[in-house]
Amino acid sequence: MQAHRQAITINLSFISKAPLAEASSTEMTSGALGYTDESLLPRLGQVLWSWQLCTGCLEVQSCIADSCPAKRVVRLQRYFQFYKAVVSTYVDGSSAKDRVLKTHEDLWRAIRALKSNPDITRAGFRQLLFSSKTGNLPDPTWNQSDLLNAATLVVKLLTMIDSSSLYHSSDRLETGGSRIHWKDDVPFSKYLQDLFPTENHPVLSYPHSDLLIDMKSELRATKLKKHLGITFRPTHDIRNHLRLHRRLNVLEIYHHTTFLKEHLRSTRGSGDRSSPSTSIKV
Ligand SMILES: [Zn+2]
Repeated sequence: MQAHRQAITINLSFISKAPLAEASSTEMTSGALGYTDESLLPRLGQVLWSWQLCTGCLEVQSCIADSCPAKRVVRLQRYFQFYKAVVSTYVDGSSAKDRVLKTHEDLWRAIRALKSNPDITRAGFRQLLFSSKTGNLPDPTWNQSDLLNAATLVVKLLTMIDSSSLYHSSDRLETGGSRIHWKDDVPFSKYLQDLFPTENHPVLSYPHSDLLIDMKSELRATKLKKHLGITFRPTHDIRNHLRLHRRLNVLEIYHHTTFLKEHLRSTRGSGDRSSPSTSIKV
């Protein structure tokens, strides 16, 4: 069977301009990256999806408005588990002294910086991270590896894509999968565009065609399992959605639909969303 990977445009919008609470830089105190609890979620939604929080949430108290987007945090538990795991890996893999992003506030500031500069190259983003770390111009003694790790963390939380070149899995090697990493001279928007090229598919591009309706009814998971013996594996990397591992007869399914819905919701009604550059920016 042929697995079709739909071209997906991730629509991202910029955060609100409301100030975020100051955070401590002490390793395991509230606000430090080593300490993650659910009280962070509303403000994380503010950073990622421009949530317009109620005054209760803005003051890190109880939510007081039925219309407040923080009511949706319950549905975002899976993404928050991802956030915690990715941040924890970053903290464990770096010493407190060399860590570029020491607090959630540092991390969110970096996410906002990337969102407001979607055409920045990876080299430029590293420089920007360095500048925000020290407040000075780039120094030849900076640690490129620490900055790269920080940039990878930011991209991963913003898009759920691992943009590093270091990631390999034995399974991926066995099945011949490839990986495009964000290169130093490539704008972030182009990196995303190249990951998800817009293609005209003879069936999938025509939502009202009879062929698509037939295909949808034929491509049910129960049928794939029953007739082709395919098993399914969840993935948090959207690039792997509908990737078929032929030898293993395993189909990967992206299982963070709530994350995607939040991005779509945040860009609904906004201007030009035809390219990552315009949909990521404010
Ligand atoms: Zn609220």
